[in-house]
Amino acid sequence: MAKTKRGRVLWSLPSRGRGTCPVCSTKRIKLLYPRAKLGGTTIKVCKRCVPAVQARVDAAATV
Ligand SMILES: [Zn+2]
Repeated sequence: MAKTKRGRVLWSLPSRGRGTCPVCSTKRIKLLYPRAKLGGTTIKVCKRCVPAVQARVDAAATV
């Protein structure tokens, strides 16, 4: 399976896969991990926030 979280693949993503994490507000971190919010919307979070409790994800801004 192709690696989708490192290497050239990232260059094709918007902002090259980087941005400000909506959960921990770390800037220019790689946002590659989708988490579902309350209500069905999906946000991209950083590696550190993948195991975050659902309440923290729900409290994050939807962008
Ligand atoms: Zn984060």
